[in-house]
Amino acid sequence: MKNKKLPLYIVRNSKVHGKGVFARKDIPKGTRIIEYVGKIVSCKEGLRIYEEQLKKSKETGAGAVYIFQLNKKQDIDGNVSWNPAKYINHSCSPNCDYDIINNRIWIFSKRDIKKGEELNYDYDYDLNDYQDHPCKCGSKECLGFIIGKRYRNKFKKMMENKS
Ligand SMILES: [Zn+2]
Repeated sequence: MKNKKLPLYIVRNSKVHGKGVFARKDIPKGTRIIEYVGKIVSCKEGLRIYEEQLKKSKETGAGAVYIFQLNKKQDIDGNVSWNPAKYINHSCSPNCDYDIINNRIWIFSKRDIKKGEELNYDYDYDLNDYQDHPCKCGSKECLGFIIGKRYRNKFKKMMENKS
């Protein structure tokens, strides 16, 4: 019974980037693993914090931007100590996804995940400032930048036109 209370994840150093979040045990597909929590701010305030975090992360190379859009009017600033989900890295071929249910952001498994695997999801960034977000996820699908799945084709076309 005690084990049931243990979280499904553990935070430790990642080869991909800084810290990462890993499966503490086998996790079946469709499991809510962790909630992305933080301070709720207006989108306007969120944008200001985003730009500040981006500037700082460019200076330090930390790649640490934690603004998550919650709805049309509000963002969550996840850069707080009580939000281990902020350590989940992006992947171009992720094993998790997020879902916003009743104004709460949940990270859930989109396939079966083995104990010890690093958890990741698609940060779903658009093509603005993509150069500021290099990706080192190492998957075969990797575009080299953190770009949401729905922008992949557009990005590829952009690159073709460049060359
Ligand atoms: Zn990648």
